[in-house]
Amino acid sequence: MVFEGLAEKLQNALGKLKGKGKLSEKDVENAMREVRLALLEADVNFKVVKQFINTVKERAIGHEVMESLTPGQQVIKIVNEELTILMGEKESKLEFANTPPTVIMMCGLQGAGKTTTSGKLGALLKKKGKRPLLVACDIYRPAAIKQLQVVGEKVEIPVFSIGDKQSPVNIAKASIEHGKKNGNDVIIIDTAGRLHIDEDLMEELENIKNEVKPNEILLVVDAMTGQDAVTVSESFNEKLGITGVVLTKLDGDARGGAALSIRAVTNKPIKFAATGEKFDQLETFHPDRMASRILGMGDVLSLIEKAQASFDEKKALELEKKLRNQQFTFEDFLDQLQQMKNMGPMSQLLEMIPGINSKQLKNLNVDEKELVHIEAIIQSMTKEERINPSVIDGSRRKRIAKGSGTSIQEVNKLLKQFNETKKMLKKFSGMEKTIKKKGRFN
Ligand code: GDP
Repeated sequence: MVFEGLAEKLQNALGKLKGKGKLSEKDVENAMREVRLALLEADVNFKVVKQFINTVKERAIGHEVMESLTPGQQVIKIVNEELTILMGEKESKLEFANTPPTVIMMCGLQGAGKTTTSGKLGALLKKKGKRPLLVACDIYRPAAIKQLQVVGEKVEIPVFSIGDKQSPVNIAKASIEHGKKNGNDVIIIDTAGRLHIDEDLMEELENIKNEVKPNEILLVVDAMTGQDAVTVSESFNEKLGITGVVLTKLDGDARGGAALSIRAVTNKPIKFAATGEKFDQLETFHPDRMASRILGMGDVLSLIEKAQASFDEKKALELEKKLRNQQFTFEDFLDQLQQMKNMGPMSQLLEMIPGINSKQLKNLNVDEKELVHIEAIIQSMTKEERINPSVIDGSRRKRIAKGSGTSIQEVNKLLKQFNETKKMLKKFSGMEKTIKKKGRFN
């Protein structure tokens, strides 16, 4: 769950208001005390917390809430709106150059996820039809160039490098010429990072900025570092004038402090959020969706977008036909499992469903391993067995269990479930036919 501790505490504090028919000022005061503590414990900047609580209180003690029939819901609505405003209100899109190439300069401290994010951003833009070029400007860290080349290979995006003997400013300048010649419309410059902010680093970044005049200067910060990420953002912004922030490692146990304070402190938007090490785990940052997720109100829009990006429409139509005609086989099942996996870990998907709060999510105890076992069992079947499971006798079951590293019981369970699903589909299809005959369906 994103910001698990914070989410749980906020949902607890606000949950107490939910069922009440009438709210007293004292009820609101008490709830706000808990909200304040939850935010401070999540490492949100104290000035930001103070301002936030004051605004929410002012609105919550007003007439619109006190006289409403569902005052608790109204307070939750206000908290949701103010959290959204705190994180920037609306998504902030990338600025593209009127005449390509668009130049994006990536900066940040070492280990924040700059190189990985450069690759992810390239992959995201490529999916949208752009032709990005990655540029290796970190000439100091051993193997930094090689790392970017490996990233480039994985996301199938060209990498521009002229080794570590040239200055980063020269490399950046040359990369633009190279990009123009080769039809690259977005140039993503991966700059060097340091363990701490220092004058040399800032001067070098400034020099690159002055030379290539980037359309975007994105600062990559590790969300797990909380207030440190906010301080780093302030320094980079003061010295360099960043255009936006990318928050990484939101899949880890970040407490929320960075996400909730950066915008308010620096007045620069969070443009993207990274939720894992894989190259497709970078999302546009939507403040409203993030606020809803924190308050356990789900994020259906992101869920739908993920589904649309991962599921193949043609395959879905074919599958529907097969389901109707009961021709669904283990081959199709495997295909479905693999498409589902493309959407990301089950726990990340579940938290986007409205009404599943942090406590329930914990209790659900999503067993990703079970899916892995099911996949292994199907993969240990022969093609014939997948299409016609009735041939799977005792000795075949033994072989499949052994081949997949599972037990005969698990194989039996899967086969039984599969047969029951088929029976159920048959029933449904029968029902549909009768209804159609009676003319109750179009
Ligand atoms: P750089 O020094 O800023 O270029 O950082 P790298 O791109 O080398 O990333 C440092 C480490 O963080 C690597 O092990 C990455 O795989 C990891 N990393 C980057 N982004 C994420 C993320 O969103 N989630 C997780 N869990 N790990 C990440």
